[in-house]
Amino acid sequence: MKSPVFAYAAPNTVAEACSLLANDEDAKLLAGGQSLVPLLALRLAAPTTLVDLRLVPALTGITYDQGVLRLGAMTTHRAIERSPLVQDVAPAIAEAAALIAHPQVRTRGTIGGAVAHADAAAEWPAVLLALGGHVEVTGTTGSRSISASDLFMGPFMTSLEPDEVITSVSLPIDGREIWVDEHQRRHGDYGLSILAMTYQLSDGFLTDVRLAVAGATGSVTRAPEAEAALEGRAPADSSDAITALAAELSYTSDIHGSADYRRDITTTLFQRALRAAGERSGQA
Ligand SMILES: Cc1cc2nc3c(=O)[nH]c(=O)nc-3n(C[C@H](O)[C@H](O)[C@H](O)COP(=O)(O)OP(=O)(O)OC[C@H]3O[C@@H](n4cnc5c(N)ncnc54)[C@H](O)[C@@H]3O)c2cc1C
Repeated sequence: MKSPVFAYAAPNTVAEACSLLANDEDAKLLAGGQSLVPLLALRLAAPTTLVDLRLVPALTGITYDQGVLRLGAMTTHRAIERSPLVQDVAPAIAEAAALIAHPQVRTRGTIGGAVAHADAAAEWPAVLLALGGHVEVTGTTGSRSISASDLFMGPFMTSLEPDEVITSVSLPIDGREIWVDEHQRRHGDYGLSILAMTYQLSDGFLTDVRLAVAGATGSVTRAPEAEAALEGRAPADSSDAITALAAELSYTSDIHGSADYRRDITTTLFQRALRAAGERSGQA
């Protein structure tokens, strides 16, 4: 199928992009096009205007300052995966980028697009939630910061206003341990379960645990009961948390796998994360 007819604009500034959105309620931003273009081709989206962000220099760049890794919204998954800075300050983030699809998709798809798209099986929303990160956004009335917990409202739903552009994604890289992995049916597929976990290790005990799951549930979600069950425990003392994670989430059933299957693989991912925590604490 061919995409519907649309007008095309390629502004040079975020302000121009915002006013194009504000002046046409059916306009849509175009970043890497790796989610939007298939939707156009399937005629599941029919924007009147595509506002292409590729010529906006303010949306690019990776910086690390005072414990915060800031990724410009138009930074591609591949650039994050290959960035020497990211590999140095947060290797788990570079590895998480490499879990996304295939190199062809990663070379065009952007972190801003993935976060705005809020696919329930996407890696970045889980990473953002587990790290307690935030996005900077700009609209016609100004800029604001939205925490990950206030951004994701459900599958393909965010709290962005129609005229707002995500300008950057900020991840706190503050000494907490980070673990991200997923189970894919075939290499490059969307994850059937994605688990991101961050924590501190203090004398071999876990504190400040944050767990986020995607792919296995209807939308990206934290797991507060499992987090609480791990607080102050050694990684090996985790049977309550494993039981909690299996019980507290509502696992999805579809043609790719049953809810029971997704619960099982999420449990396995969690056990791997805990084993890694044990190794990091020298207890494994
Ligand atoms: C074969 C294939 C496999 C894939 N596998 C995975 C996978 O395993 N994991 C995964 O996470 N993704 C996967 N994707 C999707 C890919 O990661 C996309 O890059 C991503 O979802 C969207 O980023 P994009 O830059 O391509 O955005 P686009 O497709 O251009 O836009 C997506 C949406 O975000 C909006 N948007 C874009 N940028 C901004 C911004 N700065 N501010 C506000 N709104 C914005 C657009 O208006 C649109 O609604 C896959 C895609 C393909 C084609």
